[in-house]
Amino acid sequence: MITSHNGPQPADFTDVRATNLAVVLRFVREGAPCSRADIAASTGLNKATVSSLVADLIDRRLLRETGLTENRVGRPATMLVLDGSPYAAIGIEVNVDYITAVAVDLKGEQLLNWRRAFPGGTSSAGQAVAAVAAIAKRAVSRMTREARQVLGLTVAVPGLVDVNGTVRIAPNLGWRDADLGGDLMKALRDPGFPVLVDNDANLAALAECRFGPHGDVGDLVYVTGEVGVGAGVVMDGRLRRGGHGYSGEIGHVEVDPGGPECRCGRRGCLEAVAGIGAILARTAPGAPPAELAAEVDEVVRRAKRNDPEVLALLETVGRGLGKGVAIAANLLNPEVVVLGGYYVPLGPWLLGPAEDEMLRRSLAPGAGGCRLVVSTLGHRAAALGAAARVLDSVDSGRLPPRP
Ligand SMILES: [Zn+2]
Repeated sequence: MITSHNGPQPADFTDVRATNLAVVLRFVREGAPCSRADIAASTGLNKATVSSLVADLIDRRLLRETGLTENRVGRPATMLVLDGSPYAAIGIEVNVDYITAVAVDLKGEQLLNWRRAFPGGTSSAGQAVAAVAAIAKRAVSRMTREARQVLGLTVAVPGLVDVNGTVRIAPNLGWRDADLGGDLMKALRDPGFPVLVDNDANLAALAECRFGPHGDVGDLVYVTGEVGVGAGVVMDGRLRRGGHGYSGEIGHVEVDPGGPECRCGRRGCLEAVAGIGAILARTAPGAPPAELAAEVDEVVRRAKRNDPEVLALLETVGRGLGKGVAIAANLLNPEVVVLGGYYVPLGPWLLGPAEDEMLRRSLAPGAGGCRLVVSTLGHRAAALGAAARVLDSVDSGRLPPRP
């Protein structure tokens, strides 16, 4: 029942149905293959309702039947699995040195994965919108050619994104109050699917929970390892955005009062001490942003050769990172902190000192059981999370029209 100023009224029938469709869809996502009777028994919906909901979901090609199973007590039952093959969710990440685009189907199977160099650090917001719109159009037309309906598109941005999708501040991109979502809608000529904008770390944390090996972890912190450093915080299985959506700016906690100047204008921020820019400022000063990936590869090569200068630098960066991670561990007691982006190839040299520092600075023994690991999703994490946000909205009842 929904209470209004006219007194209690029945909830809108379509709302109830959408909610129930979402309940069934989520159950099959987690429990497939399963029968209609399994769904009824586990969700508490009656069998007639489940049959009607399943018929609707099959009609929309979100579920399909896979034949009978005989290994059961009683009559053989028709089993159901997710379908979703006529659909695609698109995720795009724009960052200081690249744009990544991925598309997945409803089951999370990857349909495309593109990465291209992009000078985000020196481009205007207008140039970035044009570049994101160009790659978005290509991804949409690829999906359309494959006869897939695009369910939505989310763009990941390294900066503060408010609840309306406006990028308030993206220091490393030089953006302020950029209406990226609105501009993209115009560039895509009102494409008929939702276009969302979100913070890269938040989306990467969603990706770790949905596509990474941490699906059963309720409390997780993801730390981006790009030029910018930010955190996505998942607590009790839910992304925690804070009051205005600005949580997780771990890159701007001070870890070294006398440290280098940060792009935010302060000194000694985690990002300025342990961001990728801080590493390359020492190993490849003046390198253009488009060559970051190649420069990081060179750092890895030098570390593998036991170059003492690089090893000392990575030890210092790892310790700085550990100071930041310890703050998250003391404050949130996560089960796991996942280091992403360029921290992945540098992980063999960063993890040891970072973990040491985290353990030293945590009040709880063993940092409260917090494990420090590198991402298995690499640079795709934020874009995959962007696509995951589209799937989340389907799972919560925003179903596509019948194809
Ligand atoms: Zn800062």
